[in-house]
Amino acid sequence: MRTWLRNPLAVLTPEGVDGRGGIVIEDDHIAEVLPAGAQPNRPVDERFDATDLVVLPGLINTHHHFYQTLTRACPAALNKELFAWLQSLYPIWAGLDADMIHVATRLAAAELLLSGCTTAVDHHYIFPVAVPEALDVQVEAIRTMGIRAVLTRGSMSLGEDQGGLPPRNTIQDEETILADCERVVGRYHQPDNGAMLQIALAPCSPFSVTEELMRETARLARKYGVRLHSHLGETRDEDEFCLATFGVRPVDYLERVGWLKSDVWLAHGIHFTDAEIDRLGRAGVGICHCPSSNMVLGSGICRTRELEAAGCPVGLGVDGSASNDCSNLIQEVRQALLIGRLRYGAAAVSHLDALRLATTGSAACLGRADIGTIEPGKQADLALFTLDAPRFSGAGNPLAALVLCGAHRAAHVLVAGTWQVRDGSLVNTDLTTLQAEHAAAAQRLFS
Ligand code: ZN
Repeated sequence: MRTWLRNPLAVLTPEGVDGRGGIVIEDDHIAEVLPAGAQPNRPVDERFDATDLVVLPGLINTHHHFYQTLTRACPAALNKELFAWLQSLYPIWAGLDADMIHVATRLAAAELLLSGCTTAVDHHYIFPVAVPEALDVQVEAIRTMGIRAVLTRGSMSLGEDQGGLPPRNTIQDEETILADCERVVGRYHQPDNGAMLQIALAPCSPFSVTEELMRETARLARKYGVRLHSHLGETRDEDEFCLATFGVRPVDYLERVGWLKSDVWLAHGIHFTDAEIDRLGRAGVGICHCPSSNMVLGSGICRTRELEAAGCPVGLGVDGSASNDCSNLIQEVRQALLIGRLRYGAAAVSHLDALRLATTGSAACLGRADIGTIEPGKQADLALFTLDAPRFSGAGNPLAALVLCGAHRAAHVLVAGTWQVRDGSLVNTDLTTLQAEHAAAAQRLFS
């Protein structure tokens, strides 16, 4: 099956590549990118008129906690900084059941797809006693949504009574965690190009797991060739916690446990010194920038330019929906532009810089060479936007307009060459029903 997306209004291609003639998709991948006026090399089965559409590589979200869609704008956690915010939410999250995790996963995937996201990472680290196989629940849910996913098997093992932050009923012992990590990697991880589902291993943060678990998780990940993920450098409180508990700052701790490597990507990465940025860059550690979450919790501003200059892949993430509180990735691109300009100045950060984070930067964080750009051979993951809403009226540069005028909903989305969103609606999911089920689950969690 060959489909020609003809003559787009604008298309985000690699620098120097003219894509104004459109994109030919063959099955699950991009076969041709055509300059203005060019015709496909071979006949096509379908022509899709893209003259009113701005085409982006499908956006890639590199950090989320899907279950947190159930605790958005949570009264107990409003207006708090990270540690106090977490301590208000842990007891609520301890009540998650399998149905709640299932519907939260589907709802988050729906939100992401509708915002132009085609690959989504989730970091799930709450395994209540009632749901020890929470990752299997997520796998089943995500497969119904048609989005490409990297599910990370998170963990917490350092309870309050051992000097950690989370309460006892939200943590698991290390043996259980490692056995489950090994099980889900073996059962679900697809290593090949075009993988629709990958697994990564993701101890939650330095203040919620033991040093031993960090080391053992890395050993396991390298044994099976999967990536490692965690939170790091989010707040100054974390610096103090690491100094008091481990006697070193977070990056030194990372090195000590064998994590200063290029198979690691970290969420936030705000509070690094120049020397630490240099070390992270030389090691090729990826950083997921989460601008909205960092603003909501007042955590600080990630030094994206310095990190990129040092050699770190820098991607973009909406973070969990208890600290954003939505899962809209194209909106997050705008947030990255705005906060980047606040730090570096208006001339230093363009709309293309912000889009780069959510495309090639995010793909590099995940170690994926098959997604993130519009080039022949890459997966046919595309997000198509119209500029027909009042907010875009009169706009000059279509790609800049998407970011500056605040696009928030894709018109059409393709994942691996299959339409998952058409005319602003999910193709395979009844959103009204899903939303009703999700709202009921949230209410159950609080009752
Ligand atoms: Zn997070």
